[in-house]
Amino acid sequence: MHDLNNETIKSMDVWHIQLPVNAPRDHGIGLVKGAVDIIIVKLTSSSGAVGFGEGSPWSVFTGTAEASFAALNRYMRPHIIGRPLSERQKIISDCALSVAHCTEAKVALETALYDLLGQISGLRVADLLGGAFRERIDLSCSLANPDFDADIMLCERLVDDGVGMVKLKAGFASHQFDMMRLETLRKKFPQLDVRVDFNQGLNVDEAAMRVRDVAGMKPSFIEQPVAAHHFRLMAQLKQMIDVPLLADESVFNSADLNRAILQDICDGISVKIMKTGSLMGSVQLAAQAASAGLSAYGGDMFESGLAHAAGTHMIAASANITLGCEFYQAKYYLETDILATPFVIENGQVVVPDGPGLGVYVDEDKVHHYALNHAGGS
Ligand code: MG
Repeated sequence: MHDLNNETIKSMDVWHIQLPVNAPRDHGIGLVKGAVDIIIVKLTSSSGAVGFGEGSPWSVFTGTAEASFAALNRYMRPHIIGRPLSERQKIISDCALSVAHCTEAKVALETALYDLLGQISGLRVADLLGGAFRERIDLSCSLANPDFDADIMLCERLVDDGVGMVKLKAGFASHQFDMMRLETLRKKFPQLDVRVDFNQGLNVDEAAMRVRDVAGMKPSFIEQPVAAHHFRLMAQLKQMIDVPLLADESVFNSADLNRAILQDICDGISVKIMKTGSLMGSVQLAAQAASAGLSAYGGDMFESGLAHAAGTHMIAASANITLGCEFYQAKYYLETDILATPFVIENGQVVVPDGPGLGVYVDEDKVHHYALNHAGGS
């Protein structure tokens, strides 16, 4: 039996890596092309156990990889090295106070701490978060390629793989393009559950018309049609349509959700560990949403299988995240992942990893290979 008081954090490595992706994607607020930027954290304990975590910033959404790297390496490091693992909540709190924003860096640290604790105790991260409500999570894959023919081919692959949900990224081109894609999906793939996400892409003048038309196609939900701060317009759009309206960029954390509930802007939310900056905070955010009668799904950013695994444990431990997850990047978007074995998706469902900690293992040679920047040591 390990004594956590005797286990201290001996060293921390931080990498900024760029992983190549297989296609361009337009998400309304920004285009992703070539590669995605990811931060990897490795904590090593005094007994030699290691834990990994990932931050997946997107500059137009949460922040930059450079900011996350500096947050961990410069501002958080003094609050981490030499501390006993038994003080992990205090470490998380001290680090959160040491630098504003940088939620991706904060969740990367928390993930690495939970993974390390899991490696030492033999418990899964889902167990450390309170215990698993589910072992499989339905997968939704996003369609965001400006070349719609390529997305049709992706849909054929998804259907063959047993995936039952897709999310059409809309609002980055013309209204006609969005409606044509929706109609084509309905016709070609009637079995698919189709969601629509505007990623804040609509301006105030056009939002009502475009959202009303899209709602007429009866998607399962419409997500974040307008800018994050347009709470009043979100509330008006919610009243106008008879399909659920979900908030993503409008709700990062508990304070945002309080305001969203008070102003009645949505029927549900996207819970993302990169927005809350915390696995435990995400579990709590989902519970807060449920207490107000809101639904939730588990979203992601441009992540590797490592962050997917962290999100999977978070959803497993959240009774109220019932609309599935979007952890498709590692399998369907990255040219190559950094995990030693592939992130497991079976018959359209993400499988909650077994084994201690996150239950996945990082191929450090790959991390070194794709690294732009690395800082290590104590
Ligand atoms: Mg979204």
